[in-house]
Amino acid sequence: MKFDIITIFPHILDSYFKEGILGRAVENKKIEIKLHNLRKWTADKHRTVDDSPYGGGAGMIMKVEPLAKAVKSLKKSKEKTRVILLSAGGKIFNQKKAGQYLKYDRLIFICGRYEGVDQRVADYICDEEISIGRYVLTGGELGAAAVVDSVARLIPGVLGNEESLNEESFAKKGVAEYPQYTKPEEFNGWKVPAVLLSGNHQKIKQWKGKNKKTL
Ligand code: SAM
Repeated sequence: MKFDIITIFPHILDSYFKEGILGRAVENKKIEIKLHNLRKWTADKHRTVDDSPYGGGAGMIMKVEPLAKAVKSLKKSKEKTRVILLSAGGKIFNQKKAGQYLKYDRLIFICGRYEGVDQRVADYICDEEISIGRYVLTGGELGAAAVVDSVARLIPGVLGNEESLNEESFAKKGVAEYPQYTKPEEFNGWKVPAVLLSGNHQKIKQWKGKNKKTL
């Protein structure tokens, strides 16, 4: 699967995507993640990506033309592609949505900055607007990273241990994983539940089932 992130800060997520499970998946060519500098699709001397809002108001708005050119150049006719605008007021992203994205060959993310993005980008260029929570960030890059991360780990071969996907949080709607412990058995008088040390697989399974969190 291919992930394209359009941003004015193309190095802002470099280390995140080079480390850990995602870094390995990129190296093993299970996924491709590219950050694209939006200014590449500007034509003027100052490589302008923003302008003041019509009707007045605080801050600058990201222009539609460079974003339109960027998406056009990244879309490939034979690939099933979804274009996603990161937006504070968008539809809240969740685990179900992460799973639904698996059917695409390519996800293209548009990261807003400043006061946001010309509305025509949402209306005519993107397939949907996604928010990662009801709070305002300075830019869409963290949102794009959150979506890429959660989708990528669902792709077969990306996680070392795919079994963990069935057990973990949100595998079932509204249910989070049971508590997990590791050595030592006791620290500061804080004990690991005895059943987990019992070796009784049946009882352990029951305990795990009972201790999942309902959200
Ligand atoms: N003026 C906008 C508003 O009131 O909704 C906020 C713009 S914000 C400072 C700049 C950019 O950050 C947005 O265009 C969007 O791409 C991104 N962003 C901010 N909050 C976000 C969130 N909760 N989820 C996803 N993206 C977000």
